[in-house]
Amino acid sequence: MPLVIAIDSGATAGGTYDGVTYQADKYSDGGEANSTPDPIAGTTAVALYQTERYGTYSYKIPVTAGTFTIELHMAEIYNNTAGERSFNVSVEGQQVLSSLDLYTQAGHDGAFSYTVEDVRVSDGTLDIALESLVDNATLAGFAIYSADGRLDTSRPEPSCNGYVAITYDDGPSGNTGAFVNALKQAELVPVTFFVNGSNIGNNSAGIRQMLEVGEVQSHSFNHVDMGNYSAAQVTDQLSRDIQAIQNAGAPKPTIFRPPYGTLNNTVRQAASSLGLYAITWDVDSQDWNGASVSAIVSAAGRLQNGQVILMHENQSNSLTAIPQIAANLKSRGLCPGKISPTTGRAVAP
Ligand code: ZN
Repeated sequence: MPLVIAIDSGATAGGTYDGVTYQADKYSDGGEANSTPDPIAGTTAVALYQTERYGTYSYKIPVTAGTFTIELHMAEIYNNTAGERSFNVSVEGQQVLSSLDLYTQAGHDGAFSYTVEDVRVSDGTLDIALESLVDNATLAGFAIYSADGRLDTSRPEPSCNGYVAITYDDGPSGNTGAFVNALKQAELVPVTFFVNGSNIGNNSAGIRQMLEVGEVQSHSFNHVDMGNYSAAQVTDQLSRDIQAIQNAGAPKPTIFRPPYGTLNNTVRQAASSLGLYAITWDVDSQDWNGASVSAIVSAAGRLQNGQVILMHENQSNSLTAIPQIAANLKSRGLCPGKISPTTGRAVAP
């Protein structure tokens, strides 16, 4: 049967496995990407199973009317015992896998495949829906075949294979307006600003400008290194920052990035008790350390799906880098996203 399409879930690049060409992840509605460097047992298509898209979400594949066969591929790349994951999979509204526990089926880092045959689609969209019961539902990839149906290429392809978080710390500053204009012009939106209450002062206009291109989150009130702070001291810094941000007209922050990336359990727990998920970054642009424009652009070029880059709003090289960063992300099918307040990963805005 001819291949309609094959997708490597959670992957930012495609590949050919067992003679079938899989494309980078697309057509998903929700979910988050994850990967493992570990070898996968029971398959020669190791890289296919090393990436996953997890959560309660669905794939919506545009197809012409026809009857389809769907090969679903999965692996337990996270949990190490039975009972830690359970989920349902439905195709075109029909449950095809119920209370699936991948560890029980194939162990940790073991390939598991399941084929669904004779799926009639007449509504223009082949739906694969995952429902989490225990931990998260997950798919490593799938291949769709049909004798009579095909991909409906008359509808535009989704332009995002994945999402990354563009972040700027230490504002608001005299540069805020220039950053916001450059971000708008390059269509590099949304972004996330981590701000200090001490910088807001009488500059609530800066916060309002930031909100035009993204979210305002917390970076402590005084930009202090909290490595030796007590829980009460951390709480004081964060609650004053939250208050300053809200007084300036922004929603209550949900994410906190500690100055200098100093993140220990005291900081993490104090942040959490104020409703803030504490994160640092995946990629450091080094703009604070004198990185050139091209070095900042190439740092952004290392971003993978779901990752977060650190930049600063008081660094003119990061301002100059905006158009090139936007163009490079676009060419890689990566779109700016927001930071999930439950996982700290970049997700669809
Ligand atoms: Zn900072």
